[in-house]
Amino acid sequence: MPPFIRHRASLEHDTGFGHPERADRVRAIEAELEGRDWLGWEPVEAPEATEEQLLRVHPREYVEQVRAFSERGQAFDLDTATSPGSYEAALRAAGGACALVEALLAGGERTGFSCLRPPGHHAEAATAMGFCLFANVAIAARHALDALGAERILVLDWDVHHGNGTNALFHDSCELLFASIHQFPFWPGSGPLSDVGEGKGEGYSINLPVPAGTGEAAFLSLVEHVVTPAARQYRPDLLLISAGYDAHRDDPLGGLALETSSYGGMASRVRALGDELGAPVGAVLEGGYDLRALASSVAETMAALADGAVPTDVARHPLAEQAAELVGRYWEL
Ligand SMILES: [Zn+2]
Repeated sequence: MPPFIRHRASLEHDTGFGHPERADRVRAIEAELEGRDWLGWEPVEAPEATEEQLLRVHPREYVEQVRAFSERGQAFDLDTATSPGSYEAALRAAGGACALVEALLAGGERTGFSCLRPPGHHAEAATAMGFCLFANVAIAARHALDALGAERILVLDWDVHHGNGTNALFHDSCELLFASIHQFPFWPGSGPLSDVGEGKGEGYSINLPVPAGTGEAAFLSLVEHVVTPAARQYRPDLLLISAGYDAHRDDPLGGLALETSSYGGMASRVRALGDELGAPVGAVLEGGYDLRALASSVAETMAALADGAVPTDVARHPLAEQAAELVGRYWEL
């Protein structure tokens, strides 16, 4: 049974009244799944990240700052609040992502989902921002590379916001192929098509900005015609999805137009790619702020990840053609 990694500590990270990144997000997802018998997945308790796991990505002083700010309930900025429960929640959000990659790379499971908060893809080495404290996906990727024998990892970030943290942490590395589809121009402002990485990482950042109003046809084509062929050549041993759901048409923060079923369409493509490459696929929760859209889209993702059905072909979208001109300098598309 694929692991669904969770912990009640996620409910104790209190961001304050009216904040969109709230405990009800996890409650809504779990209520949906409970009503569907967890889709046959196995709920697993998330461990706390170890100091060793955290310190591969964050300086010790920053980890201590997150602990101290949480104790006082001090906010990092207007978006990024903490409460006394935040430190444990953040440790388990990072630890759950690490437990996910451990389960996947041990060889038994083809897929899994780490459903914890706070999210992580905006957190940089020493900077909390955009509701994120620790860089969960980057920490899990680093753990897979440094401790579990992985040599190459693909991260597909389909959150409506650019995953600036993950991108920055591996910007000069070829150990991780980072692909992000995000609304642009939009917060946080990073991730133009022209940002392809630097140094040894040049070509290993695939930033795929899309304009407001973009929907499923473009997302599926970008996955199918840009990310998939690049990943085939890269041959990752592990595929991670930074699974945000704020590109859904009902999301109050995002301005894109994905449907609930679009997430199944993307997830089935990533699963098929993983099968082709012999690599497992793990998803880690990021954003998504309409409770109904979030809960149903997570369930849709999990169903598609576990199902392994071969996706149908999609038409080549103009945005994919446009992206291919630049990305095609590094990868044969
Ligand atoms: Zn987001």
